[in-house]
This record gives sequence, C-alpha cells and structure tokens, in this order.
Amino acid sequence: MTTFRIDYQCPQCGAPANLEETDRLFACPFCRVRSFLLTRDYFRYVLPAKNPAGKELFYLPYWRFKGTLLFSLPSGNDHKFLDVNQCAADAPGMPSTLGLRAQAMKLKFLSQDLAGRFVAPTHSFSETFTAFQTRFSQTLPKPILYSAHLGESMGLLYSPFYAKGRLYDAVLDTPLGSAIAPGAFSDKGFKDEKPDWHLNFVPALCPDCGWDLEGQRTALVLHCRNCGSSWYPSGEILTRVPSDCLQDAEAGPYYLPFWQITCEISDIALKTFGDLVKVANLPKIVDRSLGARDFCFWTPAFKLRAPAFMRLAESFTLTQAQDLLVPALPPERHHAVTLPVEEACESLKVVLAGFLKPRRRISELLTRIVVNPTHFRLAYLPFREDRHDYIQVQTGLAVNKNLLSLSGNL
Ligand SMILES: [Zn+2]
Ligand SMILES: [Zn+2]
Repeated sequence: MTTFRIDYQCPQCGAPANLEETDRLFACPFCRVRSFLLTRDYFRYVLPAKNPAGKELFYLPYWRFKGTLLFSLPSGNDHKFLDVNQCAADAPGMPSTLGLRAQAMKLKFLSQDLAGRFVAPTHSFSETFTAFQTRFSQTLPKPILYSAHLGESMGLLYSPFYAKGRLYDAVLDTPLGSAIAPGAFSDKGFKDEKPDWHLNFVPALCPDCGWDLEGQRTALVLHCRNCGSSWYPSGEILTRVPSDCLQDAEAGPYYLPFWQITCEISDIALKTFGDLVKVANLPKIVDRSLGARDFCFWTPAFKLRAPAFMRLAESFTLTQAQDLLVPALPPERHHAVTLPVEEACESLKVVLAGFLKPRRRISELLTRIVVNPTHFRLAYLPFREDRHDYIQVQTGLAVNKNLLSLSGNL
C-alpha cells in the first residue's frame, strides 16, 4: 500500500520539499522552521497537468477513501481494507475513478493561485462512502448489524482535463478514450467553484509557553517538555489533550499510545466497571469501590490492521487500567499517535459488539444502541520488547512488531 507523495514549498523560505501523505510535522531542512500541517476538515490534492500552458483546464473532483470498513455481523466482526476513489460530480463519459494513478505520481496541495476551472462536487462524501460500503459488503453474510470505518478516511483529489475538438486527459496529455463523441462534449452542466481552501501551517510551538513542540513527522499529538502538555489538532488550531502514562520501573520499555474515550451509551447500563462485568459477563468478582469506577472505552491511538486493532481495543477496554495511570508525558521512546480520536470513536460500537453478552441479544441491541463520545484522554502504556513482539508489561498483551511497522501506511 503506497501513500501519496506531495510536491511542496516551505511556507517560510520557499525551498522545495517532498511530503508523504501521512506527514503532519514539517521540518524544513533549509530554514529549520518546524510547522504543523492543519486543515479545517480534509486535505485536497491536485494531480498536475503535463503541459498546462495555453490550455483551458478544468479539474474534476474525486472523493478518496483509504481505510478499513468494519462490519458487525451476528456471527462476529468482519472487515475490508479499501483504497478507492470515485468521481464526485455528475460527469457522464468522464472517468468515474482515477484508479491508482494518484499513488503513482507526485501531487500538489490545492492552492488558490492554480489556474483553471474547478468543478464543484455534486455528491457528498457520505453519499459516495455509503455506495462504497454497499458495494464492498455484498459478499458478506446478512444481516449486517452495524458498519463503521477506521483509518484516515477521506480527501478530495482534483484531476485536470481539457476539451480541444475532443476531450483530453491533461495528466498524460492524451485524448480520452471516452464514450462521448468528438465535439459533443458539453461542460455546461458543471457547476464551478472557487475552492476556498488552503493548507494551514502553524508553528510547532507550545500554544501555552512557546517552547518547541516535540513529535515525529507523522505524529498527530505533539508534546511540550517544558510545561508537560500535549497538543492535538482540532480544526485549524492545536488544542490541549490530557495525557496519562503508566510509569514503569523496568529500564527502556517502548510506550504505545491509546485513546481512553468516555461515552454516553443508550439502551444498556454501562457507566461503571461493575456494569462492564455484567454486560460482558466477565468471570470476575469486583468489590464495591472497584465496581463504582467510571467505565471508558480503550482503543489503540496508532494505526494497526483491523483484526489486531479490534483485539487490542477489546482487551484493554475489558481491562480498564485507568487506575494505574498518572498524568504525565511518555518517555522519549514512544510510538507516535497516528490514529485520530474521531476515527477511534467510529470503532466503539464494533468494540462493544465484540464483548456484549448474551450473544443472542446482539442483533436486537446493536441496531438500537447509540454510543455518544463525550470526552477523551491519551494513555501511554509500557511494552517490553522481544524478538517478534512488543508485550504490554502489566497485561501480557502483545503487538507484533512487523505488523506495527507495516501499519504506517494504512
Ligand atoms: Zn524553509
Ligand atoms: Zn509548553
């Protein structure tokens, strides 16, 4: 699986740079300025035209989804990994998908100064996404009780075309093998828009104390070692996110990040650890103080293939290790947060479906239950390393090292 590569210019000094789609923290090798890439919603990319001079280019929008579809079935959970795109405008005769083209070339971020017409999407992302879900769930046994997505979810790709007697694909500068007869093309039906979007750069400095924020290039959460705070993008600004850490006396463990997500849950009583013991029918006897502790969901805060992700989310949710944590930043040897909490929230109902008992009530309950996240915190847990795995020190749960290193592009 490849990510997009993006041609780019440092906003400070104009030096050319290459970014990967997953990069968030950009450190310019020339002027040394570090900035964090933010967008109010999703990233927009442009496929560059081959010989743009003298052509009246128009750009067609394509919705892009990369991630995993999760499905709750009466027999258990299933998933499918997708990397797809689909034309977002009504454009008969035009390519309905760009296939893998965008992965094979260098893209640019959409910018206001790019010449050409931009066709407005006529289909929303959710409409297109529902069509993906339907198409890819066709081979699954029915009924599908609930479906969700996991991973970086969306983006808009603009691909250039032009008409000159006939239609041309401007990326390759070749005529389009189109169903439209030469001369018959009309772009009158297209609605233009001036894309009101730009990439936002914020200096990677602590909004509270001005200290340099620390993080790896793909990190969604940055840390300030001066005032001990953690920062997470919310729209176009960085907001503080509470971070906890499980201290470990053992020298040199590797820390992996998890989201702790507190929710309001309808139709079942699941507010405390005592409720969890009943809902999941855990073979545990809990005393009153343990039983009264607040329940929250746990999920990995890093990308991982769906089966491993779901297994860890379910195991840590059943463990409820909140009382082992203290508010603190992780040591330097830690894995970056690469999964947005919004994506983690998408998975919660599927996590719940994994442990809800009795199983025969799942179909009936899952269609009714609403899981409404209310707040979240980060937790960094220590893992010791052996040849193949990272093993969580307190619970013995393992994450395969290979799987983790392959998950960066998911
Ligand atoms: Zn620079
Ligand atoms: Zn600070």
